[in-house]
Amino acid sequence: MTSTVHDPIEELRTTLEEQFRRHTDQLVHLTLCSQQPDRGDFDDDILEALVVSSRQVVADTAQALRRMADGSYGICERCATDIPLQRLEILPHARFCVPCQRKRTG
Ligand SMILES: [Zn+2]
Repeated sequence: MTSTVHDPIEELRTTLEEQFRRHTDQLVHLTLCSQQPDRGDFDDDILEALVVSSRQVVADTAQALRRMADGSYGICERCATDIPLQRLEILPHARFCVPCQRKRTG
């Protein structure tokens, strides 16, 4: 018999690990570009914005993996309700439920 346990959290962990690798690579690439005289053909402002957003994703992803390890993953940091799985599948490093996210950004 083969085990075919379908654990959505394990799938999200894989997604997060891939995301972490991809954005870390991108961050390294962008950092190298920023050190070149021609900025790797990037506009200065665009390059800066990309570095900031990549760094944020790397930080959020690392934090999500850490939360997964300590068992607090998938719980809104603001109101402590469970973040719906559908949202986590779209945004695995989500730290807030949708209403709290709206309050933060809106
Ligand atoms: Zn919330």
